[in-house]
Amino acid sequence: MSIIQVPRVINAFARLTRLGGSLMPPEVLEAMRVAAGAYVDLHAFQRACGERLAALTGNEAAYVCTGAAAGLFLTGLACAVGADPQAIARLPELGGKTELVLHRAHHIAYTPSLRLTGLRLVALGNGDQIHASQLEAVLSERTAAVVYVAGAAYARGVLPLPETIAIAHARGVPVIVDAAAQLPPVENLWRFTRELGADLAIFSGGKDLCGPQASGLIVGRADLIGAVAANGAPHQTLGRSMKVGKEEMAGLVAAVERYLTLDHAARLAGFERTVSEWGEALSDLPGLTAARSFPNEAGQPTPRLKLTIDPGVARLDAAALARALWDGDPRIAVDDSEPGAVYLTPDTLEPGEADIIVERLRALMGPLPRPPAL
Ligand SMILES: *Cc1c(COP(=O)(O)O)cnc(C)c1O
Repeated sequence: MSIIQVPRVINAFARLTRLGGSLMPPEVLEAMRVAAGAYVDLHAFQRACGERLAALTGNEAAYVCTGAAAGLFLTGLACAVGADPQAIARLPELGGKTELVLHRAHHIAYTPSLRLTGLRLVALGNGDQIHASQLEAVLSERTAAVVYVAGAAYARGVLPLPETIAIAHARGVPVIVDAAAQLPPVENLWRFTRELGADLAIFSGGKDLCGPQASGLIVGRADLIGAVAANGAPHQTLGRSMKVGKEEMAGLVAAVERYLTLDHAARLAGFERTVSEWGEALSDLPGLTAARSFPNEAGQPTPRLKLTIDPGVARLDAAALARALWDGDPRIAVDDSEPGAVYLTPDTLEPGEADIIVERLRALMGPLPRPPAL
């Protein structure tokens, strides 16, 4: 970077906030630039952006927040206190609705954003097994909502989403879907709400949408989106600390417009090509076994390359390899969270970077040069 001197990173890991999230395409930057150049009635602009996003995604209503974690907080509050200004002004003191229900397996790294609402989190099941009657038993007039984390990576030990929705709705309880990283597939923008009947769904603006890093998209029921807006900035409410600017709003609209025009089949074919080229280019390295892995770490339907490393044969074990890749110039970030393996992700790469990764891996893991024979 030119202003602040920290080393550039080739991101072969995932769209992680700690690596800068994603890269904004020109149309998103241009929308943010235009928005930055004018004063507006922010309430009206927020509403207009929401209407446009609702139309684009085939939802009743939509709202731009500062990220999916903020979306969890705002939707939790919206389901607890609604749009009533007096109830909102009393926060963090709650009214009659004091609980959020979620599967124990859905208590994840982002759950603290739900705790921040002050609502009690009721854990469902043991993380491994669950029966429908257990959900029925914990729902009561105190339940503000059921929060459900979508995706193949969170499917163990939980009721299927349609069943969860049916049980919750039978008792008048709304369901919030955390779908932060569930793009692709693009159809998820309307699938959870319009097709499966969830009341609200939340997406990160700064992951595959490649919108502003500090943006998130909430879609769903118009009355609940209205309650989200009443709880959020620019109102001077509890949600004010998660202020979203006109630049993020405009940037997210441009990002969703762009995302809907992408050729997602061609993108996926490109990822598959990169993974298979990586496999071929790395298959002869001693102690490395290369194989396609699917779906990715977030359960999205995109491939990665898994390098299984035999530490007795390879020059470096998996952890040392990940460290060496990070310590090089430019830095290369890979997923080494599974012991004995390193995963390479194609979706986050810029042109030319897949080849740089191969060169670096061959330099680090190739056979040592042999001394000339005597
Ligand atoms: C990334 C993620 C979040 C947080 O999203 P931000 O937009 O970074 O706030 C929340 N939930 C899940 C499941 C995620 O993957």
